[in-house]
Amino acid sequence: AAPVAFMGGMSSAARLNVIIKDGGVLEVLARVRSVAFDKTGTLTQGRPAVVGIRPAAGRAPDEVLRLAASAEQHSVHVFAQPIVDVALRDGVDLCPVTSAEEVATHGVEVLLGDGSRVRVGKPSFIEDAVGALHRADLAPGETAVYVSTDDTFAGVIVLSDPVRPQAAETVARMRAAGVEQVVMVTGDVASTARSIAGELGVTEVHAETTPQMKVDIVGSLAPRPTLMVGDGINDAPVLAAADAGIAMAGRGATAASESASAVVTSDDISRVADAMEVSRRTVAVAL
Ligand code: ADP
Ligand code: MG
Repeated sequence: AAPVAFMGGMSSAARLNVIIKDGGVLEVLARVRSVAFDKTGTLTQGRPAVVGIRPAAGRAPDEVLRLAASAEQHSVHVFAQPIVDVALRDGVDLCPVTSAEEVATHGVEVLLGDGSRVRVGKPSFIEDAVGALHRADLAPGETAVYVSTDDTFAGVIVLSDPVRPQAAETVARMRAAGVEQVVMVTGDVASTARSIAGELGVTEVHAETTPQMKVDIVGSLAPRPTLMVGDGINDAPVLAAADAGIAMAGRGATAASESASAVVTSDDISRVADAMEVSRRTVAVAL
């Protein structure tokens, strides 16, 4: 392959805010046949708004918010800051926390000053502490965060995390360019995952996946080569499991995801389709 053409392809991509690690990535992106997308922060904007608080029987909304925000102060998940912000806005005092443990992609657990243990996160994480739960009824685009204190379910916080405006167009362009298989792999629950996948015309959905499950699913995706598009914060292992991995790192991103082959440094997911197009043109010229 002609190195000059590859350097040209990498700089064309860079002008579109796609930082490609090396020329070999262009060769893979030019031939991608299967694509897996993460949901939260990738197909969705990852800047969710709190749209509801649903306390368990006998609890007040402010109490659920206080517990959740006290724990979320110690989390880096995209849902953490919006919950803390709402508590601060509403003048809800946070509880003193003596220790905190973030269980990546599951939730966060803290010990409060009074000795009680608070969990916030996905339903299965709360069920480990309190037993079986009913899943909240959600409108399209909504997702829920579950809260428990000691071994009692405390309530649900509902967030709305809109789909990125260019997501549907991106999936359609990939298909038009010859991608045969498009799947979603997400840690979120099936109902939320399916409603978003439906909007985008993605029919294969893997919900409530752990990071290891994401790696296994993407590792066995066919036909190859495969591309994983993730959010760059907690998708490092799965980005490495595909033949190429692109991280949606966002505007002003400096710390590029180590395991990604390319990083999008804007909020426009259609840059992934652009990068594939640039790659095809570059490879066509270089051969
Ligand atoms: P995706 O795989 O689509 O990027 P994530 O695994 O980041 O999704 O999040 C999926 C689910 O994880 C959320 O719907 C939420 O229930 C839960 N979750 C994980 N960590 C937290 C946290 N710190 N606060 C709230 N929810 C969390
Ligand atoms: Mg994500």
